[in-house]
Amino acid sequence: EVVVNRIAAGEVIQRPANALKELIENSLDAKATNIQIVAKEGGLKLLQIQDNGTGIRKEDMEIVCERFTTSKLQTFEDLQAITTFGFRGEALASISHVSLLTITTKTADEKCAYKASYVDSKLKAPPKSCAGNQGTTILIENLFYNVATRRKALSNPSEEFNKISDVVTKYAIHNSTVGFTLKKHGEVTPQVRTQHNSTKMNNIRILYGNPVFRELLEVELTDDTYKFKMHALITNPNYTNKKMIFLLFINNRLVESSSIRKMLEELYTFYLPKKSYPWCYISLEINPQNVDVNVHPTKHEVKFLHENSVIERMKLALDEKLSGNSG
Ligand code: ADP
Ligand code: MG
Repeated sequence: EVVVNRIAAGEVIQRPANALKELIENSLDAKATNIQIVAKEGGLKLLQIQDNGTGIRKEDMEIVCERFTTSKLQTFEDLQAITTFGFRGEALASISHVSLLTITTKTADEKCAYKASYVDSKLKAPPKSCAGNQGTTILIENLFYNVATRRKALSNPSEEFNKISDVVTKYAIHNSTVGFTLKKHGEVTPQVRTQHNSTKMNNIRILYGNPVFRELLEVELTDDTYKFKMHALITNPNYTNKKMIFLLFINNRLVESSSIRKMLEELYTFYLPKKSYPWCYISLEINPQNVDVNVHPTKHEVKFLHENSVIERMKLALDEKLSGNSG
């Protein structure tokens, strides 16, 4: 059974950046206003995320890493809504099957913090009390230590760090009211740093620089026919890059959509010279019931109902803004 779990875990968590994404979402769910991340060897040796959220109750510490354990389902409607992105209560369980996982946490009610380590979903020993502030610190050590093939496939720590940095950067823009820092282990200066209660625009300027910031156009769209909302910040044709930089959030989750990507490429071929690409941030809110639940969580690619029509309407709105700002 342990081996089966390990294989399943390896599918959910494919690299340090996937694990980190799940942990960031947990911290955001716990209403953190500050999230601090440390990575060593691209997160393979060590990946730590510290938040100032609600914390985990001591009595929940025993089960928190068991599969399908979640504090986030209250009603059947919740379940339907949440299945948008496939899985619940699997992230910590999966991570504990492929690493040494340690949780230190304190709720507002508790006098002290509690710390516990997990292997294969189970507590190694009862939680120990310790000093600590309110919130949760999750420490992942030696990710994939027991999955030799995966470890071999991830042989380039700096590539893994870049992917981590990319995830943090994108979440920091989408969640601009939350302060984020990302540091390499042992270094003083953060690679990524944003302030609590910042704005998307300000964070884009900090993280992608003035050339992007200066050329941003804002587009908002509410569509009653297909019941979706779009908020987009996209560069006008004065800005070009060698590759497209695309941040896509659907219902607040960082995802990929090759169809939306393709639409953007087509749209900009009209405005930009060949082999020049824009910078685009798009946040979509779609009725969760319309997002394809059959796409496996590990596939970051998302499908949704009326996709062609939704994308066509997005394109029209973006095009209208671009055409009013070109030439
Ligand atoms: P899910 O997020 O789908 O519920 P996870 O495996 O990611 O499943 O987390 C399991 C549970 O652990 C969560 O439901 C939550 O109760 C608790 N938890 C995990 N991370 C945090 C955190 N940073 N702060 C507070 N609670 C957390
Ligand atoms: Mg989670």
